[in-house]
Amino acid sequence: MNKNRLRDEFLELARIPSVSKREGNVAKRLITILEGMGARVQVDDAGEKIGSDVGNLVAHLPGTAPDVAPFLLCGHMDTVPPADHVRPVVDGDIIRTDGTSVLGGDDKSGIVAILEAVRLLRERNIAHGPIDVLFTICEELGLLGAKQFDVGRLRARTGLILDCDGVHELITRAPAANRMQFIVHGLEAHAGLAPEQGISAVQVAAEAIAAMRLGRVDAATTANVGRIEGGLASNIIPNRVVLRAETRSLTVEGLERQTRHMVECLEVAAARRSVTVGGKTTTARFEARVERDYEPLAVADNARIVGLVRGAAERLSKPFLTRSTGAASDANVFGGRGLEVANLGCGMRQIHTVNEWVDVNDMMATTELLVETVRLHAG
Ligand SMILES: [Zn+2]
Repeated sequence: MNKNRLRDEFLELARIPSVSKREGNVAKRLITILEGMGARVQVDDAGEKIGSDVGNLVAHLPGTAPDVAPFLLCGHMDTVPPADHVRPVVDGDIIRTDGTSVLGGDDKSGIVAILEAVRLLRERNIAHGPIDVLFTICEELGLLGAKQFDVGRLRARTGLILDCDGVHELITRAPAANRMQFIVHGLEAHAGLAPEQGISAVQVAAEAIAAMRLGRVDAATTANVGRIEGGLASNIIPNRVVLRAETRSLTVEGLERQTRHMVECLEVAAARRSVTVGGKTTTARFEARVERDYEPLAVADNARIVGLVRGAAERLSKPFLTRSTGAASDANVFGGRGLEVANLGCGMRQIHTVNEWVDVNDMMATTELLVETVRLHAG
């Protein structure tokens, strides 16, 4: 029964630690598995560029049906910490850890579903087109592996990323993000002798932050100031504060609107503070560095990839829904580069915690949905 094979493969991969930048051992095992399936496997140079011990792994599998466009199946090899030692605990169909590490079902549940789907396509003699399997590195550090990956290495222009909780759910909308750094400049002065000659960068920053709409700004947009750093001592009026912030939105307009709002709060707070010392007037100021972290994922409900998965779910008499999420995945990067991809739930639960768990039945269901989707794609 392939359920045992799937569970055993999940356990084997889960036990190989693969925290971001140390995916080398799990990659080695995956290369052996993929080559055993007859794939041609390449490793790109992303690892050297971002400091991982291996690159992204791309495997080309031949099709068995003529004239079918290649199809992409993608997951990521890295996990979040703590995961130096992963000791899975099996309780019937439920797999969790001993509580000292994450399980790494994010994203090994997706990886085993992909591997098992490829096996089942062969074993059941299901006609399919060429399949590109892509396993990325450093997804958890900000989609770094995907960002370094040259999509020209893929034959496929459509497919699925498997990197989401839930089953029979397809993420078609995920936010774009801006990463921001604000450096607030005040004026240094002795806090007791000459406070009127100083401008507190801490106060300017505090007033700006207090005026910002943060958290869940609206249904599509979130924002956060996540780090604040500055000042030297309690008796010095601080002349410098550094803020690190982000905003995410399902629309680029929402993203830009919120970014502008945060910058304006700083402008207003800075303009309010100035001092004149010895005839020279100084006003608080700030520098803003805004960087687009990733583009939004926005797949229409009538896109072909959505129709394929919906059709596959219907043929299996399973529920199906599309939804949005507040977190990005490699699908954001590849969607932004013109591939038609969506992110399919693969049964990971309570991810990024030591309470993480998976149900083997969920991974089985994901595998069956993949097999059916690839079959439909071949017509
Ligand atoms: Zn993930």
